Amino acid sequence: MNTFRADLHCHSTASDGTLTPEEIVSLAKKIGLNALSITDHDTIEAYFTAIETARQVDLQLITGIELSSVLQGVSIHILGYCFPFPNPVLETFCSQHQERRKKRCREMLMLLSQHGMPIEEEELLQSLAHKKTTIGRPHIAQMMIKKGFVESLNEAFKKYLGDGCPCYVQGERFSPQETISTIHQAGGVAIIAHPHLIKEVGILKQLLEMNFDGMECYYSKFLPKEQKRWLKIAEKRSWLVTGGSDFHGSIKPNIPLGCSWINEEYFNQLVERKGIATC
Ligand code: AMP
Ligand code: ZN
Ligand code: FE
Ligand code: FE
Repeated sequence: MNTFRADLHCHSTASDGTLTPEEIVSLAKKIGLNALSITDHDTIEAYFTAIETARQVDLQLITGIELSSVLQGVSIHILGYCFPFPNPVLETFCSQHQERRKKRCREMLMLLSQHGMPIEEEELLQSLAHKKTTIGRPHIAQMMIKKGFVESLNEAFKKYLGDGCPCYVQGERFSPQETISTIHQAGGVAIIAHPHLIKEVGILKQLLEMNFDGMECYYSKFLPKEQKRWLKIAEKRSWLVTGGSDFHGSIKPNIPLGCSWINEEYFNQLVERKGIATC
């Protein structure tokens, strides 16, 4: 019997992934996943097309998003799931994110130019999959490669764009509390994404006191020991357990779709908690 697998973390061309929402849904079906959620950064645009494709190929799709937030200067990603779509509350929140991202992008381009790597904003915007794509650092990094300023995404992040690097701008962000409240108001559940990236013990401690509904305990880069640690934390709080690959397509070729997933039990607990049908 085939094992049930639900990959609940991936990115499409609506943010910094390289496959369209339709292509991701088709790929998920092809590789035998039983359920999927597309969790683009600060946007739910993917669902305008993904829901129809999921229906056509008969794949269980649940709504998802990965929202950026900041706690005391530390970047915190928060996953939202199982909200109704369309969703005016989330759409309003996302358009505020898009505005702050455009402003931040301009500031980063200015810093790159000061470091001898000029990129025109217009050219960058033209390179996006469509005008509603969430602009992020990977798009800038790809343009840096195209212009011959760096050889790889890794080099772009390591030398210039990574957190705290010379051309990095954090920009304005919402707090985790504001983000959790918005997800709840939108009818979804709020989950701490890839907790292993939170290196500051004090920050993690504060997050664990907040009204999250769950934690991402299965993730492509987790070692079994780490997985146990996060599962224990979630269990202690009676939190939902989620997981996924964080697939981005060809910009991160060593992270294939479906390389991390949750089982049927965890998946059912998630959808039953909200009492909603999948898309
Ligand atoms: P942004 O939302 O603009 O802050 O960009 C965050 C995204 O950049 C993450 O979701 C990753 O896809 C990518 N990213 C962050 N750090 C790195 C890194 N060191 N190497 C490659 N990609 C990264
Ligand atoms: Zn990303
Ligand atoms: Fe993330
Ligand atoms: Fe992600």
